[in-house]
Amino acid sequence: MIVECPHCFNRVSRREDGICLACRKNVNDVNEENRNLSAVSIVEEQDFPDFCIICGKDNVSARYPLSSYHDLTRESEYKKHAWTKAFAALGGLIGITMFGNELGKKVKTERSLKVDVPVCDECLKNKKEIRTLNVQYEIRTIKVVVHKNFKNQLEIWSEKYAL
Ligand SMILES: [Zn+2]
Ligand SMILES: [Zn+2]
Repeated sequence: MIVECPHCFNRVSRREDGICLACRKNVNDVNEENRNLSAVSIVEEQDFPDFCIICGKDNVSARYPLSSYHDLTRESEYKKHAWTKAFAALGGLIGITMFGNELGKKVKTERSLKVDVPVCDECLKNKKEIRTLNVQYEIRTIKVVVHKNFKNQLEIWSEKYAL
């Protein structure tokens, strides 16, 4: 049986000991805090019904920007360095002359994503945060933890407005 883990929100198969293979916590350990939570993947520029994403309350017309940013500058620099080393090992000096002058040059590589989600006044006032589970910049999708009522309403709403 596949269940949604109340800690990491991955869909995992239920084991006899209840341990989630993704986060190693017990899937039966449902508490006051995570009881009403679930996960939803949302796409950039998507629209939503007027329900608070955090507490599930209705009549929420305000939208709040949820954004994610990832700076890859250091990683690409590291990759380039590894390349230079590989070439040097293979072709000796050729590798170094070809790639040597690229070293030390920082290529600015960054990715970001922003989506406006419904958040009620109360959650804003209480500075409630939206937990991000993962971001897939390639397909402009962000997976976040939401209130179960929001998820249900989103499903009903999506069906109603699906083309
Ligand atoms: Zn888990
Ligand atoms: Zn709220």
